Amino acid sequence: MRVFNFSPGPAVLPQEVLEQAREEMLDWRGTGMSVMEMSHRGKAFISIAETAEADLRELLSVPKNYKVLFLQGGAFGQFAAVPMNLSKPGDVVDYVNTGAWSKKAIGEAKHYAKVNVAADAGEPYTSIPALSGWQVSDNAAYLHYTPNETIGGVEFHFVPELKSGTPLVADMSSTLLSRPIDVSKFGLIYGGAQKNVGPAGLTLVIVREDLLGHARPGTPAFMDYAAMAKEGSMLNTPPTYAWYMAGLVFQWLKRQGGVKAMGEINRRKAELLYSTIDNSSFYKNPVAKDARSWMNIPFTLARPELDKTFTAEAKDAGLVTLEGHRSVGGMRASIYNAMPLAGVEALVSFMKEFERKHA
Ligand SMILES: *Cc1c(COP(=O)(O)O)cnc(C)c1O
Repeated sequence: MRVFNFSPGPAVLPQEVLEQAREEMLDWRGTGMSVMEMSHRGKAFISIAETAEADLRELLSVPKNYKVLFLQGGAFGQFAAVPMNLSKPGDVVDYVNTGAWSKKAIGEAKHYAKVNVAADAGEPYTSIPALSGWQVSDNAAYLHYTPNETIGGVEFHFVPELKSGTPLVADMSSTLLSRPIDVSKFGLIYGGAQKNVGPAGLTLVIVREDLLGHARPGTPAFMDYAAMAKEGSMLNTPPTYAWYMAGLVFQWLKRQGGVKAMGEINRRKAELLYSTIDNSSFYKNPVAKDARSWMNIPFTLARPELDKTFTAEAKDAGLVTLEGHRSVGGMRASIYNAMPLAGVEALVSFMKEFERKHA
C-alpha cells in the first residue's frame, strides 16, 4: 500500500510517473532493454535526454542564452562548482545566510574565494533579512542565496534583484518547479533533483552563457560548466536513469498544467496546513509569516513529550516521515509537487484528531 510520504528528500514521486517507469522498466519502447542498460550515446537515450531538456525549458521558459546541464554531485557539488567556475582566487563573493543550507554553501565557498556574508538572518533562522539592509559588495563575482531553506522551512517569496548587476546564484534544490520563476533574473540556478524533480543522483544547473568559460585552472573537468555544456552534459557518463525519471516528472508536470497551475496547488496545500497550525494552540510554526515555505513546513507540539506518539500514530494512519530535522526538533511536513492535496488533507484531519485526544 502506498503511504503519504512527507520526506524532505529523497522525496515522494508522482505515482503516475512510478507506474510509467514500471511499465517501461524491462523494455523501453521496443528497444528490448531498460533505460538503465542503454548507452548514453545511443539514439534512444539521446532522445530521452533531449526531450527532458526541452520539457524543462518549456516548463520554466528558460531563455535561449541559458544552458541547462544534467550533472552529478548534488547541491554539495555545486557549493564548490559555483565558486570554482564563477570566481577567481582572491575574488569577493556575496552570500546570504538564511539557515542550514546557506551555511553549508558558505563553508564550501570559503575554500575558494573571499566570502562576504551580505545578510544574516541570525539564530534561530526563522526569517529573511530585509533587502534594504543587505551589505552587498561593489565588486562581488556573484551573490548566492537559498530561496528555500529545506530544514528551517524559510522561503523567499521574492527575488532579490540587485542594482549592481551582480549575477544572482540560487540553490533551488527544494523549490525548483514548485512555482513559476523568471529565469532571466538569475545568473545561475542549481538544485539536487531528489526533492522536487526526480530521484537522487541528478543535479540540475541552469546557467547564463556569458558566465561559462571562466573556470579557474584546476577545476575538475566534470565540474567545469563550459566543458559540460560543450558535451551536452555527457563529458562523462551522466546519471542516465535519474535523467529519464526527471523527464517523466517534467511530462507529468505539463499534464498538471505546468508550474503556474502547480504553484496554485502548492499555495493551497501550504495555506491549509499553516491555517490548521495557526488556528490551534497545540501546534506552532516558528517562521515569520512572510517567510514561510510552501514546500517544507516544520511545526512543534505544545507537549513535546508527545512527539514520538504523534509520529507513531501518524504512521498507523499512513502518514510517514514527519519527524523534524534533528537540529530543529518537532515535526516537519515536506509537501513537494508530488504530494497531492489529499495527502495534506489527510494530515490536517489527523492533526485535528490528535489534538482533540491529547491537548
Ligand atoms: C537537500 C539540499 C541540499 C543538499 O543536497 P545534496 O544533493 O544532498 O548535495 C542543499 N541545499 C538545499 C536547499 C537542500 O534542500
